[in-house]
Amino acid sequence: MPGSSQLFALEDDIPMLLGVECSRCHLTWFPRVLLGCERCGSYGDDLTPRTFSSAGRLISSAEIKQVDGQYFTLASIALEDGPVIRAILDDEVPVSINDTVRASVIEDGDELAIRLHKR
Ligand SMILES: [Zn+2]
Repeated sequence: MPGSSQLFALEDDIPMLLGVECSRCHLTWFPRVLLGCERCGSYGDDLTPRTFSSAGRLISSAEIKQVDGQYFTLASIALEDGPVIRAILDDEVPVSINDTVRASVIEDGDELAIRLHKR
């Protein structure tokens, strides 16, 4: 049985990303790092854990060649809920800039992972 992730939680099999919102300046970010707000410096109780939709818009992508000669596509996604994340795209369906993408869960060895793909 794959283990769970600190990066997302499943709600009805849909991955929700575990992030943070600063209650002072409302900056949002992912993953859930609680060291402090990089915009206003707030910390502690001013940082509120929250979840973000795993759907968003592709704003950039790049093919990355690995040492074994295989490629994967790394993408920047502007989530519907705010923060920009970087994620691996599932290449089965070609994706273009401004396309809407959504995450699904895969088993990656002993862990669960998410991959973004065209909606
Ligand atoms: Zn802040």
